[in-house]
Order: sequence, then C-alpha cells, then structure tokens
Amino acid sequence: MLPTKAYAAPAANVPLAPFNFERREVGPHDVLIDIHFCGVCHSDLHQVRDEWGGSIFPMVPGHEIVGRVSSVGAQVQNFKVGDLAGVGCMVDSCRTCSSCQDGLEQYCETTGMVGTYNGREIGSGAPTYGGYSSRIVVDEKYTLKVSDKLELARVAPLLCAGITTYSPLRQWQVGPGHRVGVMGLGGLGHMAVKLAAAMGAEVTVLSTSPNKEADAKELGAHKFVVTKDKEQLKSVSNYFDFILNTVSAPLDLAAYLNLLRRDGTMILLGVPPEAPQVHAFNLIGKRRRIAGSLIGGIAETQEMLDFCAEHNIVSDIELINIADINEAYERMLKGDVKYRFVIDLATLG
Ligand code: NAP
Ligand code: ZN
Ligand code: ZN
Repeated sequence: MLPTKAYAAPAANVPLAPFNFERREVGPHDVLIDIHFCGVCHSDLHQVRDEWGGSIFPMVPGHEIVGRVSSVGAQVQNFKVGDLAGVGCMVDSCRTCSSCQDGLEQYCETTGMVGTYNGREIGSGAPTYGGYSSRIVVDEKYTLKVSDKLELARVAPLLCAGITTYSPLRQWQVGPGHRVGVMGLGGLGHMAVKLAAAMGAEVTVLSTSPNKEADAKELGAHKFVVTKDKEQLKSVSNYFDFILNTVSAPLDLAAYLNLLRRDGTMILLGVPPEAPQVHAFNLIGKRRRIAGSLIGGIAETQEMLDFCAEHNIVSDIELINIADINEAYERMLKGDVKYRFVIDLATLG
C-alpha cells in the first residue's frame, strides 16, 4: 500500500484537517500521479457539508487534479513516468453499458460513475479519496493527457469547471449567432464565459455581484447584467438562446426563465441543496426548455483539454496553501473568489 498525505473532513460540518491514509498499489492498468495542484469546486463544499446527503467520511475532496506520473503498471500504454496528467470527477465506471460504450461514462447505467472522492471502488467497495492529497492511483482509462503549453496550476480547474461548461456548449452546438447567458460568475461561470466566447457566441454574464463587471468583460463577456436590478434584467427579457445556470444556491427560476426567447433552453449545472419551483406558464408560452448536464465523458474531457491548449484557455485562479482550505470555503460561499481556488500541494509538506 502507498502511504499518502492529505487533508480530510472527519465529519459533516467539521473543518478539514491533516489526514494520512494508504492508496492501493499500482495495478497493471494504473498510473500513480504525484499531485501538484488541485482546484476547489463548490461541489467539494456541498459534499463536505453533506448538503446532498449520503456523504462518506472521512472525506478527502478534490476532483480537479493535475500532476506528474511517477509510476505506471506493466500494461499501461498511454502514459510514462514524467508525463503530465490530469484526473477529473470520476475514476471508474462499469465500462460495458451503453453510456460507457458511448464515451458518456458520467451517465453509467449499471454501477454509476465512481466519483474521484466520496465514491466507492467497484468490487472492493473501498471509499475513494480525492485530490487534496499528495498522490493518486488511477486506471489510465480515466486519466487525461495534459499539455505542457499551459500553466499547470491554471489547468487544474479545467478538469471539472472546464468540462462541465464545455460539454453542454458542444451538446447544444453553441456558436456564432447564439446569445448565451451565464448565471453566476464563479468557477464554472468564468469558464463558461471563456469557452462560449471562444466558440463564437455572444455572451452575457447574469450576476448578483455588480463588482464583477470589469472582470466579466476581461474574461470575454460582451454584456453584464446585475440580476438584482429589475431594469437591467428587463433589458434582456426574451433574449437568450441558452442560459447556463451555474448558481450553487437556491433561487427563484421564474425571473430567469423569462430571459429565454422562444425555444430557448436553460441548462442546469449548479446543484443547490433544495429543488427549484417552476411554473408551467414560464415555459409553455414560449416553448422554453429546462435541461441539465453532468460534467463530461473521458473522451470529451480530453477534447476540451486539447481545445483549451489550442485556444490558450486556462482558469483565473487564486493559489492557496492547503492549510487555508477552510477559509477558502468560507470565501467561496460568499462568491468571493477570482475565480477558482487552486491548492498548491507542495504546501502539504
Ligand atoms: P462558485 O465558484 O461558488 O460559483 C457560484 C456562483 O453562483 C457565485 O460566484 C455567484 O456568482 C453565484 N451565486 C452564489 N450564490 C448565489 C445566490 N444566492 N443567488 C444567485 N447567485 C448566486 O461555484 P462553482 O464551483 O462554479 O459551482 C457552481 C455549482 O455547480 C455548484 O452547485 C456545484 O456543485 C455545481 N457543479 C455541477 C457540476 C455538474 O456536473 N453539473 C459540476 C461541477 C459543479 P455571482 O456573484 O456572479 O452572482
Ligand atoms: Zn466539480
Ligand atoms: Zn456503465
């Protein structure tokens, strides 16, 4: 077994603290990655606070992992020692159901995808531990290639925030001529702005934070709407083809659905603890749609990383020491992060 240093939440609503555990030995198809950086996703916070129910403790969060391969199993074909590598939100799935066969492992229909943390390994049932740790063992099939053209710390958030916004933009073939609204300028939101703009859409940020306007424009947004300002909101009524909703807190969807034009689609990405209420009248009058999307498959995650390398797209980050993780959570809750915290695992000691 491989001794591993980490930070873990011992129980729901208890601060994260240093934690030691053992990773499995490197199997024939596994790679061992020394983790250099790990992004901090709002899903980490939802899960360490058990806001979705069923959390497994102790929990080592983290599913925006980048680092360098330090060992490979005998059968590994696509990675060698010294390669940069990334791991996102899943580390396994059944591999045989129609979703897995289609490269949509996140929608695995038998075992479900195995989360990088707060999941259980298929077979052994052992809990999975994430990227707030010194190293990780992952089957090469669930490991991504990372370009050395981009700044590594700023690549980490692409593994969740990047793919979660890239996948729906591709699924709905967003491009020139489309008006896209991005609700919430946080980790997911700022990646949605960069990616949708790179794909040629007109992008509007719909934010509760007036002080984010200059940043939004810098990130590539064409317009900025303060959603608490009724007049500003009215100026974009019946306007959008698509709205990517990345908001992490409960909110009244009606006002936002009215921003969709006829046949417009709101794609739910954020997962607030409580379910939203929707009145049929907000949909039927303009044949509007509400959809949802969960991260992206492994092949599409690789496509997104390659797209970002080609277009020089990375995350805007605040690099933190792992000892500051609890404070970072408090700041993220207030929407006070520009625009993703990334943990420097060298600070794990
Ligand atoms: P984040 O960085 O905290 O960003 C969320 C943003 O939502 C905030 O910056 C804020 O933007 C806005 N917001 C927060 N509270 C609000 C409120 N009460 N009313 C209106 N707006 C509010 O979080 P994130 O990491 O981007 O994650 C966002 C959500 O997506 C989380 O629920 C997370 O679990 C979920 N998620 C889903 C997937 C998926 O596969 N579908 C993947 C990853 C994450 P403004 O200041 O601009 O208003
Ligand atoms: Zn995430
Ligand atoms: Zn499957």
